[in-house]
Amino acid sequence: MEKKAKKILVVEDEPKIMEVVEAYLKNNGYIVFCAKDGEEALEQFHKESPDMVLLDLMLPKISGEEVCQIIRRESRVPIIMLTAKVQEDDTINGLNMGADDYMTKPFSPRELVARVASLFRRCEGTNAPLLHVMSWNGGELEVNFDSYTVKKQGNIVSLTPNEFKLFSAMAKFPQKTFTREELIEVAFGLEFDGYDRTIDSHIKNLRAKIEMNSSKPRYIITVRGVGYRFGGEK
Ligand code: CA
Repeated sequence: MEKKAKKILVVEDEPKIMEVVEAYLKNNGYIVFCAKDGEEALEQFHKESPDMVLLDLMLPKISGEEVCQIIRRESRVPIIMLTAKVQEDDTINGLNMGADDYMTKPFSPRELVARVASLFRRCEGTNAPLLHVMSWNGGELEVNFDSYTVKKQGNIVSLTPNEFKLFSAMAKFPQKTFTREELIEVAFGLEFDGYDRTIDSHIKNLRAKIEMNSSKPRYIITVRGVGYRFGGEK
């Protein structure tokens, strides 16, 4: 057990599950905050800055999916989805939404505690607050999220606002493969009224600007049949 107790936000609308999860986590030395719907979850998240979020998928007011996406726009806090759905597809969607792990109900509270501990170990040092400046390949490419600038070999690259949003969405989550729909949502928001293929033309322009050789991209990698991911090496 570490010296400083970790804070966990548990979002669950079923009182019985909440009660058990809260008791087990507290017994294991965690500080627990509870939220019983999506709205409360976001309030608590901003107020308490938890070190991990356990997030039920089916929630009143704002769904677990949405809560997860909103949290992911601003934080890399580890998230475990708690889902009653058993289909493989939902699991995969949960992970695509930005969750780090998932558990299907009914689960054993003991296993949940083990997963929490293992996710904390896995995220050790990587769940630091979002960096303001990131760079890859020995500084070949650099982004500054405060000034919204990207530099290639030290020279500022002029990106359109949409290209910048697309780039930063991917760069912040280098382990994640984004579908075109997710990129549209992350970069342009739900109100965006366009086709999936619009993303491909933005990607093409982005590559032409940031890649050393856009026919052999090192940063914006195509994941065949799925979408795109970031490939920059630290
Ligand atoms: Ca529920």
